[in-house]
Amino acid sequence: MSTIDLRSDTVTKPSAAMRQAMAQAEVGDDQYGECPSTNALQAKVAALLGKEAALFVASGTMANQIALKLLTRPGDDVILGAESHIEWHETGAAAANSGVQFRVVGPREGNGIGLFTEADFRATYRAPGHVVQPPTGLVVIENTHNRGGGLVWNQDDVVAICAAARELGVRSYLDGARLFNAAAANGRSLAELAAPFDVVGVALSKGLGCPVGSLIAGPRDIINAAVRQRRMFGGAMRQSGIVAAAGLHALEHNLARLGEDHANARAMAQRIAQAPGVLLDLSTVQSNIVIFRCAEGAPDAATVVARAKVHGVMVSAFAARTVRATTHLDVDRNACLKAGEVLASVMQG
Ligand SMILES: *Cc1c(COP(=O)(O)O)cnc(C)c1O
Repeated sequence: MSTIDLRSDTVTKPSAAMRQAMAQAEVGDDQYGECPSTNALQAKVAALLGKEAALFVASGTMANQIALKLLTRPGDDVILGAESHIEWHETGAAAANSGVQFRVVGPREGNGIGLFTEADFRATYRAPGHVVQPPTGLVVIENTHNRGGGLVWNQDDVVAICAAARELGVRSYLDGARLFNAAAANGRSLAELAAPFDVVGVALSKGLGCPVGSLIAGPRDIINAAVRQRRMFGGAMRQSGIVAAAGLHALEHNLARLGEDHANARAMAQRIAQAPGVLLDLSTVQSNIVIFRCAEGAPDAATVVARAKVHGVMVSAFAARTVRATTHLDVDRNACLKAGEVLASVMQG
């Protein structure tokens, strides 16, 4: 029995063709600016995102941490949505590295976790110069929103929040580790989704199937500062073209197929939603992530994870009664349908 691993879309392994591209990559020392594959990837991603420049970094977390460091001052407020990656999955790095504090806005339970509105932003904003209150330095939007269930932002909200931020002198950052999924879901261009923001991060090691790598993109002066900051975080690389080549390959071959992952997630979710004890609103399945809750009296998340594993399906316990299943490049339609059956039967008892 082969395992269907839906714990995350980070579990994808580089395909033979991707490995081939990596093996053949032209490389040089990136600290001399001489790595052609790295330079090509940076130029390509900057163009896709409609930004002046982009920088290859080790991880989505590193992109986020560089952005926080460059766009805030210690003591600033950072406004972000509930259960953001920056708050939940970066081991306190924002506090340790940049000395900022979070002000979490928007719904904290039910549907729409991670999303918020211009009104939320304005109500939470604090001006500089106050005797006792910390100033708002940065607003962060995560699109798609991972813990919200891969939710895709309404672009009108994004535009309104970023415009308000600009008006108030607050910087804006898009945690777009899952931006490729957002674009596949709403049919808008990456450049349109990135346009409202000062700085954007994107990840290659999720749905695009790369072994490693993210990029941070924005105005040239900020990206120049990011080069130094990356080095200060110990993330400066040398012949990084070996991994950058995987990114170039992925953008060429794996970007256009992301919609398949979304369709597979939806098909799987439809099956799971029919099972007793499952709380799953299908309108929340907007990309490649399915998050469902286990009703009182139904098996809890740890039980679901353990039972599904016995049947060859791996999923994540996101909270005591919350399970996440993520579709990706390495699981096809049949595998997702089978996983849906297994999860539904596991919920049954
Ligand atoms: C995965 C992810 C990241 C970065 O994760 P790394 O493991 O550091 O690459 C950042 N933001 C979001 C929304 C993510 O889903």
